[in-house]
Amino acid sequence: MDGSVVRVTLSLIAPGILFLFGMAFLGAWLIDRSRPYLLVLAGACAAFTLGAVSQILWLPAASGPNAMLSGALYTTAVLMAAEGILSRAGKHVGWGPAVVVLVGVMALLGYFFYVDRNLLARVYIQNFGYGLVFLVTALRLTALARGRVVDRLLFWILLVFALHFVPRTVLTIGVSAPQGPLAFAASPFWQTLQLSLALFGVGLALTLLAAAWTDVIDDMRHERDMDALTGVFNRRGFEDRVAARFDRRETPASLLLCDLDHFKKINDTLGHAGGDAVLRQVGRLLRGTARRDDVVGRLGGEEFAVFLPGTRLADAYECAERLRTTIAQHPFALAGGTRRVTASFGVAEAEPDETWDSLCRRADLRLYESKRDGRDRTTASAGSRRGTASDAELAAVARVAMDGFDARPAGRDGPGA
Ligand code: GH3
Ligand code: MG
Ligand code: MG
Repeated sequence: MDGSVVRVTLSLIAPGILFLFGMAFLGAWLIDRSRPYLLVLAGACAAFTLGAVSQILWLPAASGPNAMLSGALYTTAVLMAAEGILSRAGKHVGWGPAVVVLVGVMALLGYFFYVDRNLLARVYIQNFGYGLVFLVTALRLTALARGRVVDRLLFWILLVFALHFVPRTVLTIGVSAPQGPLAFAASPFWQTLQLSLALFGVGLALTLLAAAWTDVIDDMRHERDMDALTGVFNRRGFEDRVAARFDRRETPASLLLCDLDHFKKINDTLGHAGGDAVLRQVGRLLRGTARRDDVVGRLGGEEFAVFLPGTRLADAYECAERLRTTIAQHPFALAGGTRRVTASFGVAEAEPDETWDSLCRRADLRLYESKRDGRDRTTASAGSRRGTASDAELAAVARVAMDGFDARPAGRDGPGA
């Protein structure tokens, strides 16, 4: 086979691979249009493929327009790749910097073709310029290096890809460019470039597709675990997150249960939509008041729970009181004006060998006591509203009381019965 045919065929491998990945990104975007970065990455692959095709097949045939067109397409591909990778993380290249890079590269390429014809300068401008764009992109994403495996992989591939532009160019082209298109296509620079683009292109594209896939799974898991009405975890999400910490025996840790008072009346007077509006606002108040490490969940109906890692009973009691007064003082905005709503709380601190079920039952029992004592209050111990007694003492009292509680047919819904 003619040597030039072999060379052209080999040169088409990298753009061919990236074209296929472009189709994969496009397909992924068509399935999930909530991720526009997939479309941007598809555009980057398309721009690179067109640039390579124009350069390899000599379209247009005149070398000046060819250098300018392929240069514009490659630069666009690099900027779109950077934008796609950044926007996945909520960041952007920005129109200003993108225009500066594109116009700057094109002006320099034009100068070193039409004014001072210098292939070596054009090679360095493109390779160093693109390496710099990818380096800035990687440095803006250092947070990925501490993320999931796929994010760490993406960061490191991107960083090595960005850095490789300089040594590859210097080592393969040095200080003099091969003269003539045939010598250039057969040069170590061109062949190494094709190989590195194929390898890094596959690595980056596969990692980005895997990252998108992981994002989709994470979002699905998040949706499964969240309560759409209140924006806090649902029972499943809450118990999953707490179980992981509870099994690791993170002590001290406390549990706070909260049940809105006379919620049935709110539903009866304001309708189910009014009740929902109250639940939504309570969810927002709980999220706003909770600390970063606290886990807030809606266990069902109008019952909420907050798991407080690293928190002793006395502090958990204070926390519950803060939440209780926040709710009691909040003017709930509802159709037809504002309305006051109160909630009752039960608090318990986990004992060293206690099971999760036992902790829940103790907190539930104390919540029941708050209801029985008149509502709009916090109970952190059986028979006392103070959180200052030792939890072992409180637990002993609670257990005695719980025996009676267990016998009640109302079970966990006892407080409302
Ligand atoms: P108590 O002070 O004793 O807790 O009285 P309560 O009226 O709050 O009693 P209970 O806990 O039995 O009432 C809960 C009500 O919450 C009953 C149910 O109709 C209502 N509910 C449960 N889930 C939802 C929901 O998602 N939205 C609305 N609007 N109401 C709900
Ligand atoms: Mg209630
Ligand atoms: Mg209830």
